[in-house]
Amino acid sequence: MSEPIHIIGAGPAGLTAAINLAKANIEVVVHEQNDNVGLRFNGDFQGLENWSTKEDTIDFLASVGISTVFLCKPYSELAVFTPSGKRHLVKFQRTLFYLVERGANGESLDHGLKEQAIAAGVKIVWNDKVDEVKQGKAVVATGPKSADAIAKGIVFSTSHEDAAITLVDNRIAPKAYAYLLINGGKATFATCLFEDFRSERKYFESALNRMRKLVEIVIREPREFGGFVNFFFKPVTKGNRFWYVGESAGFQDGLWGFGMRYAMMSGYLAAQSIISGESYERLVQEKIEKILEVSVADRLIFSLLGNRGYEKALSIVDKLEDPIEWLRKRYNPSPLKAVMFQIAKRWYHSRLIDKQCMHVDCDCVWCRHGKGAHGAQA
Ligand SMILES: Cc1cc2nc3c(=O)[nH]c(=O)nc-3n(C[C@H](O)[C@H](O)[C@H](O)COP(=O)(O)OP(=O)(O)OC[C@H]3O[C@@H](n4cnc5c(N)ncnc54)[C@H](O)[C@@H]3O)c2cc1C
Repeated sequence: MSEPIHIIGAGPAGLTAAINLAKANIEVVVHEQNDNVGLRFNGDFQGLENWSTKEDTIDFLASVGISTVFLCKPYSELAVFTPSGKRHLVKFQRTLFYLVERGANGESLDHGLKEQAIAAGVKIVWNDKVDEVKQGKAVVATGPKSADAIAKGIVFSTSHEDAAITLVDNRIAPKAYAYLLINGGKATFATCLFEDFRSERKYFESALNRMRKLVEIVIREPREFGGFVNFFFKPVTKGNRFWYVGESAGFQDGLWGFGMRYAMMSGYLAAQSIISGESYERLVQEKIEKILEVSVADRLIFSLLGNRGYEKALSIVDKLEDPIEWLRKRYNPSPLKAVMFQIAKRWYHSRLIDKQCMHVDCDCVWCRHGKGAHGAQA
């Protein structure tokens, strides 16, 4: 009997790869370190962004073999509070993002992907932390391995109507944003930080106080959650045996941390590469790398804006006929963005290094002592 393809990690990247491989009649085994999916999260809401491509996210999901059997609710209005406390209600001509729930609950994205994987014939082994794969091929989908940005927040019950609200102010969310997402009596509030991680509690409390001043909302049964994301570039395979997908490959939107689409896209591309023999590097370069490079250039621009820049940017957005189009253009490559990316690469040097072990004949899935792991810890 031939060795099945091992998939390490049952997040969106790993499960998308598993679903597509199983549908192509390739035997796959998913190894998940926890006893269920989504346990890195706590029932918090996240957004599947719908602005970086012309293709709608629902069509994108179908194109990577995913059925939307989970909560996937469109939002096309966003209230943005700038540092002065001014509220800008931005209305979009199409869905801005689709709200999904993360965690193990029945309506969550993670549960929906798990059900689809099982229905496609995927075997999932729970409580199975894998650090080495000695034989056969593996798709490594273990999620982020370091923190380039963090989020600290709460999930709670509320009677507030459904809404999507963002606060930008470096005093409460340095170089990032705080967000409040409400759906069906459940809410998620969090602040994101791109620097000064040690002060996360201070920023979280300041952000919560600010939000309570600006939004009339009753918070019931709050539960805390937190998390982190990482981004870096290349390499994405090792020794013709390992395919890195999702955040374990560093695929993350450098601008604002919307990594789920890249996770699922890369899971799909790794499956295509295994099925058809196409070069995964080339697929990644074409479909993911360019847009992520632009997002890193945009990260540098965003981080230079400062509180005055946020006020100005929102006053520009207020006058736009189609803010989605404007947002999408942020992700378009251009000669200027290419230069900004080169500058950003130096700026974010420590973040953009490869975190994988690249000894070609090594069996470990993500150790950091390889030749390719420039400057990484021993
Ligand atoms: C607080 C927060 C809010 C976010 N909000 C958004 C948002 O609004 N929109 C968006 O698009 N993205 C958002 N993201 C990013 C998004 O969650 C990630 O980009 C996405 O989950 C990455 O998917 P993944 O499959 O690569 O990794 P993960 O979702 O992290 O899944 C990895 C899986 O691998 C398992 N695993 C790890 N190591 C091993 C091992 N050695 N053996 C076996 N199993 C292992 C883990 O238990 C986990 O189940 C957010 C992230 C955080 C932390």
